[in-house]
Amino acid sequence: MKFADLHVHSHFSDGTFSPKQLVAEAIKAGLSCVSVTDHDTTDGIDPTITEAGSDVEILPGIELASEAFGQEVHILGYLIDHHNEDFLKMLSQMQEARVNRIFGICEKLIKLKVDLDPQDIFNMAGKGTVGRLHVARVLVEKGFCSSVSEAFYRYIGDKAPAYMGKFKMTPAETIKWIKGVGGVPVLAHPYTLGSKVIISDFVRDGIMGIEAYYSEHSNFQEQEFVKIANKYGLLITGGSDCHGTAKEEIGMGKVRLPYEYVEKLKSARNKVTLQ
Ligand code: AMP
Ligand code: ZN
Ligand code: FE
Ligand code: FE
Repeated sequence: MKFADLHVHSHFSDGTFSPKQLVAEAIKAGLSCVSVTDHDTTDGIDPTITEAGSDVEILPGIELASEAFGQEVHILGYLIDHHNEDFLKMLSQMQEARVNRIFGICEKLIKLKVDLDPQDIFNMAGKGTVGRLHVARVLVEKGFCSSVSEAFYRYIGDKAPAYMGKFKMTPAETIKWIKGVGGVPVLAHPYTLGSKVIISDFVRDGIMGIEAYYSEHSNFQEQEFVKIANKYGLLITGGSDCHGTAKEEIGMGKVRLPYEYVEKLKSARNKVTLQ
């Protein structure tokens, strides 16, 4: 049987794996297929495809954060045309907003008596799109927190005092962008939503799938989201949300999705392109 992990971050966003390491980990985990779903960038896709050759199938993907009901709603885009110029232009605006936001987060942290040099955060991100996970890792490195989880809980998590939003679209706009580049929009890690009743809104907006299988979902939650997907006739996907050594406990292949789900995703993609 063939298995896939459809939610993996590389060092082009806030993961730590280079394309070479990512492919090596996929092979080690016995995966036939991986989707590179970096935050707000597609830069990791081509180098990973090249690195993988015929050893592992790499699906182009992306993870975009939108906002609804005052909370973050992450939407994955699968099988996107990752070279589309308008799409890349929109992403570069998001990347710029991410850089500005780091200065804002540092200002909020100073008020909490945590003095970080923004440059240390940019260095941690290297070439990748900079984000809160980089801030969290610097907070740990500088001894302000003992773990990444503590950094999110105490300082930069969605409900913490130094949280800062960034440029975010509505789910409807995000879904439209993904479909506009031939991709399949899928609701990421739905357990993070305040309530599952709002899923019907995303269905109305055109979401095509739900990431029912996810590292942080319990068996009960998995079954619950599979049921919701079936109710609305949505695709079912799954992924680990591996970030390499930035989240040691979430290894690649922690979620192993039977390949038949990938086949369904591909058929759905063909329908988007025909729309
Ligand atoms: P950003 O896109 O900069 O807002 O950062 C989002 C990243 O932060 C995602 O990759 C999440 O994995 C990570 N993240 C968000 N909340 C938490 C949390 N409570 N604990 C650990 N990581 C988190
Ligand atoms: Zn991330
Ligand atoms: Fe996410
Ligand atoms: Fe993710």
